[in-house]
Amino acid sequence: MPTETVYGLAANALDARACRRIFTAKRRPANDPLIVHILNVTAARRLADFPAPARALARAFWPGPLTLVLTKKSVVPDIVTSRQSTVALRSPAHPLARQLIALAGVPLAAPSANPFGYVSPTTAAHVLDGLEGRIAHVLDGGECGVGLESTIVDVSQPGRAIILRPGAISAGDLRRALAKQGLRLRISTARRHAVLAPGMLPHHYSPRTPLTLGRAPRSARVAQSKSGVIHWRKPACPRPTDAWLSPRGDVSEAAHSLYAVLRRMDVAGFDRLYCERAPVSAGPLGEAINDRLTRAAAKTRR
Ligand code: AMP
Ligand code: MG
Repeated sequence: MPTETVYGLAANALDARACRRIFTAKRRPANDPLIVHILNVTAARRLADFPAPARALARAFWPGPLTLVLTKKSVVPDIVTSRQSTVALRSPAHPLARQLIALAGVPLAAPSANPFGYVSPTTAAHVLDGLEGRIAHVLDGGECGVGLESTIVDVSQPGRAIILRPGAISAGDLRRALAKQGLRLRISTARRHAVLAPGMLPHHYSPRTPLTLGRAPRSARVAQSKSGVIHWRKPACPRPTDAWLSPRGDVSEAAHSLYAVLRRMDVAGFDRLYCERAPVSAGPLGEAINDRLTRAAAKTRR
C-alpha cells in the first residue's frame, strides 16, 4: 500500500499467520519488528497504552510521518513486535492507505515493501522490482510525497522520549508539541540506546553498487568513468554519469527523490556510486537523509 513515507507491505496486524507472510516475502529477520498502521488514537488505544505524551504527539502529528513506540496490549501478536513488550504505531496520512485500513476494518502491520536491506520503495514499480511474484497485489498511489521513512519515537517510558529513527518530524517539532500540552520530556536519540532500536542496522537501505559518501574524486567525473555521481543539487555542467537529488537543492524535494535516484543509479551499470551528503543548512530533514545515506554506504557482505 502507498503511504506518504514509503510503500508498505501490509497484513492484518492481529493475525500472526498473515504477519509471518510479510517476513517471508521480505526475507526479513524475525528480530526486526513491524510498524502497525491505524486510523486514529481510538484505534491505537486498543493496541497499546497511551500516556499523556503519546496523546500530545498524536494530536500534533497524526495522521502523518510519526511512529510512536508504546507498551503493547495482549491483542498484538508477538510476531509483530519481535516478542518485545512495545509496539510501534502510526496513523498514515495517505488517502489510499486510510481507505485500505478502513475497508480492512483491522490494523495493518506494514514494513517497507522491499526485500530486507535494499533501498525502500517510493513507487508501485519499485515494489514490483523487488517483490514481484512474492506478493498478491500493489495498490498504486503514485509517488510517495515525503519519500523517507517515518520518525520513530519511543514514549513507552515515563518522562523521556527516545528518537529511534530520524525523519521528517524533528526533535524540535516533538519538543514544541509536548510543550504546548505543558509536558517536558527528556528527548534523546537512539545512538546511545542501540539495544532499544531493533532493526536499526548499521547497513540498510543499500544499493547493490558500492556507495561512497562525499564529493567524488575528479577521476570519477571524466567521460570514460565507470562511476556514477549523485549530487545534492544540479551541477552547472552535468555529465551523463551525474544525477542530483533536487535541481535547486531543496531538502523536501531531495528526500522525495532520494530512493528513486539511488535505485536508478544502482541499475545504470556503474562500478561505484558517489553521493554527496545533505548540507548542514538542510536542517533536521537533511540529517534524516544523511542517516539513510550513512547506512546505505556502510560496508556489507556483498
Ligand atoms: P520499516 O517499516 O521497514 O521501516 O521498519 C520498521 C522499524 O520500526 C523497525 O526496523 C524498527 O527499527 C522499528 N520498530 C518497530 N517496532 C518497534 C518496537 N516495538 N520498538 C522499537 N522499534 C520498533
Ligand atoms: Mg524497511
